[in-house]
Amino acid sequence: MEPNCIFCKIIAGEIPSDKVYEDGDMLAFRDINPQAKVHVLVVPKSHFATLAEMDAAQAELVKKCLQKVPAIAESLGLAGGYRLIVNQGADAGQTVHHLHIHILGGQNLGEKLV
Ligand code: 5GP
Ligand code: ZN
Repeated sequence: MEPNCIFCKIIAGEIPSDKVYEDGDMLAFRDINPQAKVHVLVVPKSHFATLAEMDAAQAELVKKCLQKVPAIAESLGLAGGYRLIVNQGADAGQTVHHLHIHILGGQNLGEKLV
């Protein structure tokens, strides 16, 4: 728990969120400013900003998050596919410095950046 981190506060229940999945390792909730019809953030329950700062235990949490993504996507009705984005640092436009996986879908996402 990092006192100034908005995602730590969401994990702690200090800030409300529209949760779609939670277990002991992660929380998934809808993005407050959705960039697609479905836009969910999957957040490990350990504070670190980027993959570069991740320790071995945190890597295990990220692995569990990734393993859970297909079930979360299925529960969101994303049978047609979806896109994952994990912004890393300033050039990527990362604004919340608690690692998170964006799940985007619910529409054809086009070719866009990748
Ligand atoms: P980043 O740009 O760091 O990869 O993404 C941060 C995301 O967090 C943004 O898409 C932003 O809309 C979302 N976000 C920021 N604050 C909140 C919040 O308080 N609640 C929710 N649900 N999403 C947030
Ligand atoms: Zn945090």
